[in-house]
Formats: sequence, structure tokens, C-alpha cells
Amino acid sequence: MDKSALCSHIDGMAQRLAAWSDAVWDCPETAFQERRSAEVLCRALEEEGFAVERGVAGIETAFLGRWGEGKPVIGFLGEFDALSGLSQQPDTFAKTPLCEGAPGHGCGHNLLGVGSLAAASAVKAYLAENHLSGTVVYYGCPGEEGGSGKAFMARDGVFDELDCALTWHPGDTNAANSASSLANYQICYRYYGVSAHAAACPHLGRSALDAVELMNIGVQFLREHIIPEARIHYAITNTGGYSPNVVQPYSEVLYLIRAPKTGQVQEIYERVGDIAKGAALMTGTRLETQFIKACSNLVPNTLLTEKLDDNLREIPLPSYTEEERAYAAAVQQSFESKSDTLMAMAQAAGAKGIAFAKEHGGRPINDFVVPNFHVEAAMPGSTDVGDVSWVCPTAQISAVTMAAGTPGHSWQLVAQGKSSIAHKGTLYAGKVLAGTAVDLIHHPEWIEAAKEELCDRLDGGHYIPPIPAGVKPSVIDPSAKR
Ligand SMILES: [Zn+2]
Repeated sequence: MDKSALCSHIDGMAQRLAAWSDAVWDCPETAFQERRSAEVLCRALEEEGFAVERGVAGIETAFLGRWGEGKPVIGFLGEFDALSGLSQQPDTFAKTPLCEGAPGHGCGHNLLGVGSLAAASAVKAYLAENHLSGTVVYYGCPGEEGGSGKAFMARDGVFDELDCALTWHPGDTNAANSASSLANYQICYRYYGVSAHAAACPHLGRSALDAVELMNIGVQFLREHIIPEARIHYAITNTGGYSPNVVQPYSEVLYLIRAPKTGQVQEIYERVGDIAKGAALMTGTRLETQFIKACSNLVPNTLLTEKLDDNLREIPLPSYTEEERAYAAAVQQSFESKSDTLMAMAQAAGAKGIAFAKEHGGRPINDFVVPNFHVEAAMPGSTDVGDVSWVCPTAQISAVTMAAGTPGHSWQLVAQGKSSIAHKGTLYAGKVLAGTAVDLIHHPEWIEAAKEELCDRLDGGHYIPPIPAGVKPSVIDPSAKR
């Protein structure tokens, strides 16, 4: 079918889309504190004629934009949170924070939320013009970085009505990704001891810092006896103070446990919990455990991914000026280490992939679509899109918004967040998502097949929210996710 109407709708929004993503870039806010960013997007949705519901799932900065009625119900996922400590001036080629220590959009979520919104708006216009049945729901998902906002939203059932969900992520390649991701749990262990003069009466003290150290040693020994794909990370978030002459009465350590399947994370979590209790016993301290957040592994959907891949090829790619290529080349000059996303993706696909990467790599901008390499293995990271993917068929693309090789979560990524390359990639992503949604609207049998694939992959299982009931989103360390 002809996608030109969708493309012109989004091209017609270009100035507003850039203004919205720039506005979100200008007020970088970390997990669950994105009040101003959420409001930019809520107002944009209202301008586009969506009915907006704020504060969904009991989270102040989570929201929905809804339009239409009847089936199918298509969801677009948007993110808008920033990362701590990554403040950077726009369009710069050396590390120059706008405000030292302040957050910055180091994962491109200022573009992510807006690109998905462009798709929702275009599909709404298409349904209205053609008098078709269908509901478009835009999901404003906060706290992706270190917060797993979507997992809290999924626990509350906000995605249950969806027939499918589509999303994208800003990146340095145009690609439909169908790899899985790692499930994770994040838990805070707090130890309460007894302070004492460390020289005069250490026998009266009970050291909470000792407890954290013993817990970490216990986990160190555990690592040999867990599946090799699992990862256990930690950060000591409170050592009990700066005084070695005091027995530290309080300490805390934040753990992040990852594995390919949620059940595997659960098992390791229980073993880490035993070690934590053991450390309290050994030191005569009291342990308090706080479950912070969790996310599920991503269930890939090859059918939806193929439809996204078709649209990546059907929708015209952005064209770049010589100035834009020179800008990207200048950004590349600033890389301390180059992250070769293209080669990493290609290697997973074997010899064919490597040949493709060798032929196409080395450009300042990856101005092409990467072949759809389906890989069943989990990528070495986590995303809360995983929780949505258990509830309904879900798929995503990456679209080029930055110079090739830009490292994730870097100042260079922040610096490019308002560039014309970023804006062009956002339009392209919106068009690809909208084109795919319209294809699905015209082919309900594809949606049914995607649902069957999800059922097959779950193999009789169903979504069990990994976050226990009663756990509320908390702000601990927004940079702890990846
Ligand atoms: Zn991200």
C-alpha cells in the first residue's frame, strides 16, 4: 500500500516534533522525576487530539494518550527520562557540561518519546481519513533507566488491552531488532549495626560495613556456581561514614541481578538473599531488604519484526547533507573508544553479517538499513520493553539519530540530541512505526499470527509481574540499569 500520506503527515509535523524533542532535551530529568518532560508530551498529545490520562498506574509521570475505538488496539511506547551526570552542551565535540553533574539525555529518550508520538498521530489521521475501526494508544513510560517504569505499568495491567505494541530506540543503525534481553531484579540490602569507639570499645560495636563486605565476598563465591549467562552487579551506596575510628552502624549495598529468564533471576535472588542473611548473622547486625524494581526478559516476535523490517526498507531513508556528514565525522574524532554496534550486530549473524558490516562500515553515518538478522540469544542488557512483550506481541526498531560508533550513555550522544541528524532519524522512526501499524490494521491475520507466536514462545506460560505487589517506584540511582 501507499505510505506517502503517512510520510507527509509526519513531515508536516517536523517543526513541532523537533520543538518537542528539543524541549525534553532542555529539561533532562531522571527516572520518575520527569514532570516537565511528561508535561511537554502530554500537551503535544492533546494538541494532536488524543485524550490524555495522567498519573497512570499510580505513577505521577506515567501517562496515556488515546484515540479511536474498536479493534485493533495498537500501542506505541514512548520514553523520555534522562541519565544522571551526563549534562553536555549541544553540538559540541569536546566534553563541556552545560551544568556540571546535572543529568543529560545520554540515551536519546528525548527523541524516543517524540518519534513514537509522531507514529501515533499519523495512524490516528489515517484511521480518521479512511473511516476505519481501530484504537491508538500512546504510552508515556517513565523511568526506563534504572527504574523499569513499564514493568510497574504492566503489573497494573495498563497494556492488557493491546493487540500489539511497537516502539523504537535512537541509535547509530537502522535495524529491526528481534533479539531477547536479560531479565533483572534490583534490590537494596541495608544493614543496621551498633556504633562504638573503634579503639576504646570495639567489642561493643557491631559493624554494618563488615556485613556489606562479607555479603559481597559471599556473592563473589556464588558467581562460580550460577549459569554463565547471569550477571550480578553491585554498588555500595552507603559505607556508613568517613570515620575509621567509629564502628559503622549503617551501610547499604544495591544489587542488580540479571539472567536470560526471569525464573533464573528469581533463583539467584533467593541465593543472594541467603548470603545477605548470613552476613547479618556473622556480624550481629540486622538486615532489611528492599525490592527496588525488576524487568522481564524480552520475548521477541519475528512476525512483527519482519513487518517493521519491510517498512524500514519501504519508507525512504533520510538523506544527509555534506555538512551533516562532516558533523558526524567530527563527533567520531572525539571518541575515546569506538563502539561498533554494526559489527556487534553483524557478528551475531555469522559470516553473512560480518561481510555486510565490512562492506558498509566505516561511514560517518550509517545511512542504510541493516539486514534483519534474527538472533535468539539475549543481548547483554535489559529493557523494560520486556514486560510489555509478555503481555502482547511487541517489536522495535533502532533508527539512526547519531554518528556511527557513538557510545551509549556518553556525552557525545547527549551533544547530538538536538542535531538535524537526530531530528531526521526521529521522523524516519515515526514513519516506519506508523507504516507498520497501518499494515497490521489492514491485515488482522498478521496480528493473529503474531499473537500465536507469542503463545508458542511463552509455551503455556503467562506474564507473572516480576515486581511484587505493593512495591512502588523509587529513585535510588538512575544510572544503574545498563
Ligand atoms: Zn534507552
